[in-house]
Amino acid sequence: MKKKKSYVPDCRAQRIYEIPPSFFASRGIVAVLSDLDNTLATYDEGLPSQECLDYVAALKKEGIAFYIASNNTGKRVKAFSKALGVESCHALFKPLSFFLKRFLRKKGLAPERCVLIGDQCATDVKSGNKAGLFTILVEHLSEKRPLLTKINGLLDAKYRKIISSRGLSPDWRNL
Ligand SMILES: [Mg+2]
Repeated sequence: MKKKKSYVPDCRAQRIYEIPPSFFASRGIVAVLSDLDNTLATYDEGLPSQECLDYVAALKKEGIAFYIASNNTGKRVKAFSKALGVESCHALFKPLSFFLKRFLRKKGLAPERCVLIGDQCATDVKSGNKAGLFTILVEHLSEKRPLLTKINGLLDAKYRKIISSRGLSPDWRNL
């Protein structure tokens, strides 16, 4: 079988919040690592929404650990992790996988039992695939984003086009 491209996610979803915790539990997933910006919250939101709080609570109830895995700086990530009562790893330098792998090792987590969810093929999905996690690509929560992310966004749009036109990644419901 041809090796999967590093930017191709295992599956796709419209939003993280539509994936029920039972989906992860049934696949033997023990930890969900999620990108912050435009995946959990828009850039305008400084704290988690009620939907976000409820979602993380539902995961915990199912026995699934939750971590924020962000390229953003500590301050914003810390505000979210504190409000959610979860740990986080920030300044991950995705698409590099070095810091992500190091975080998993520190936590004693097997990559194949973890999922990485994010809104960018070029950063989130690449780093997750390289580190050996199950990867899920979501749509951007908002089109509003900083300039640097917009540049990354061009590459992301290109990857998404290839994924869609060649049917390389199914919706999570069709796995
Ligand atoms: Mg993002």
